[in-house]
Amino acid sequence: MGTYRIAVLPGDGIGKEVTKGAVEVLQAVATRFGHKFDFAYGFIGGEAVDRKGTPLPNETLDMCRQSDAVLLGAVGGPKWDGNPPHLRPERGLLAIRKEMNLFANLRPVKFYESLADSSPLKADVIRDVDFLIVRELTGGLYFGKPSGRLVENGEEAVVDTLLYKREEIRRIVKTAFELARKRRKKVTSIDKANVLESSRMWREIAEEVAQDFPDVELEHMLVDNAAMQLIRNPKQFDVLVTENMFGDILSDEASMLTGSLGMLPSASLSTTGPSLYEPIHGSAPDIAGKNKANPIATILSSAMMLRLSFGLDEEAAAIERAVQQVLASGYRTADVAKKGQRAVSTREMVNEIKATILDQEAIWNIMAVYA
Ligand code: NAD
Repeated sequence: MGTYRIAVLPGDGIGKEVTKGAVEVLQAVATRFGHKFDFAYGFIGGEAVDRKGTPLPNETLDMCRQSDAVLLGAVGGPKWDGNPPHLRPERGLLAIRKEMNLFANLRPVKFYESLADSSPLKADVIRDVDFLIVRELTGGLYFGKPSGRLVENGEEAVVDTLLYKREEIRRIVKTAFELARKRRKKVTSIDKANVLESSRMWREIAEEVAQDFPDVELEHMLVDNAAMQLIRNPKQFDVLVTENMFGDILSDEASMLTGSLGMLPSASLSTTGPSLYEPIHGSAPDIAGKNKANPIATILSSAMMLRLSFGLDEEAAAIERAVQQVLASGYRTADVAKKGQRAVSTREMVNEIKATILDQEAIWNIMAVYA
C-alpha cells in the first residue's frame, strides 16, 4: 500500500475528457489495491495561454516537479492556431519536455485480437504485432536553433535546425537496448544516413552502444523503408529507436495497426525527476466535448505510470486486463467501432473499465473465500 502524488494536466479539447476517465480508473485501482493517489491539477496549452498568458505557467511546472509522476491529456486547437509562436499551445508541450528532461518517449504498439477488424490493415498482417517505439524527445528539429523566417539574398526563406549532441544520441540508444534486453532482444535503429550527417553520427553511436549489448541484435533501417515496413511486415520489429521527428511520424503511422490513435499510450522518461505519461493523440478538436473520444490511450498511459514510475506491476496489469476484457466484450468507441456496430461514449467506456477492475476484485474475493 502506498501514497503517490500525481500531477494531472488535462490540457485542451479531448484532453479533459480522457484524463478525467484515466483518473477515475486510477481511483478504481486505488480502491481495489488499497493505495492512495493524490491528484493535483494544473493548466497547460491553450487553456493556460487564456488563463495565465503562457502555455506552461511556472506553477504548473513546479507542481509537476513536486509530484511522483505526471499525467497529461493533449494540447492545441483552432482557437490558438493564429497565435504567435511563444503563445502556441504546443510550445507548452515542448517546454515541459525540455524543462523536465523527458528525453525518452516510449510508445508500445500492441495488437488486440478483438480489434482485428478495426485496423485498415489485414488481420494476418497485424496479428501478434508487439513492438516498442523509443523516440528521442528533447532534441532534433523541434528544438534546434536557429529556427524561423529570414531573408537570404533578398528572398524570403526559412530555417529549422537538426542538432544532436553525442551524449543525447547515446543515452536514447542505450535506453532502447536496455528495453530490448527485457523483450525479444532486437533493436532497429531508424535514420536517414544516406542523406543526413546527423543520421550518420546516429548510426555510428548506435554501433558503439551495441558493443555493450552483445546479446541484443542491432539493425539499421532508413526511415523511408521503415515507413513502408511498418505496413508491409510490422511483426519483424521488437524495439525501434529513432530521433524526434521520425519517431513522431512513425508512431502515428503505427497507431493504425491497432485501429486508432485513441488506443496508443506513451511514457516520457526523465533523467532527473518524475516521468510523464500521455496518449500519443492530440486534442482532436473535431470531437472535443462530444463524449466520443476513446479514453483507452490515456487509461493505458496511466497503467504505464503504475508500472514504470511506481513499480506497481500487478495494478498496471489489472488495468490492461480490464481494457482487454471490455474490448473483447464488444465495447467500442466510434473510432474503433465496425460499420453498423453501436459505438459507446467516452463515459460508458470509462465506466465499463472501472467496473471491470472492481469486478476482478469481487471475483478474487469469492475465490479467496472458497480457497
Ligand atoms: P489529433 O490526434 O488531435 O486528431 C487526429 C484524428 O484522430 C482526428 O480525426 C481525431 O478525431 C482522431 N482522434 C485522436 N484522438 C482520438 C481519440 N482519443 N478518440 C477518437 N478519435 C481520436 O491530431 P490533429 O487533428 O492533427 O491535431 C489537433 C490538435 O492537437 C492540434 O492543435 C495539434 O497541434 C494538437 N496535437 C497535440 C498533441 C499533444 O498534445 N501531444 C499531439 C498531436 C497533435
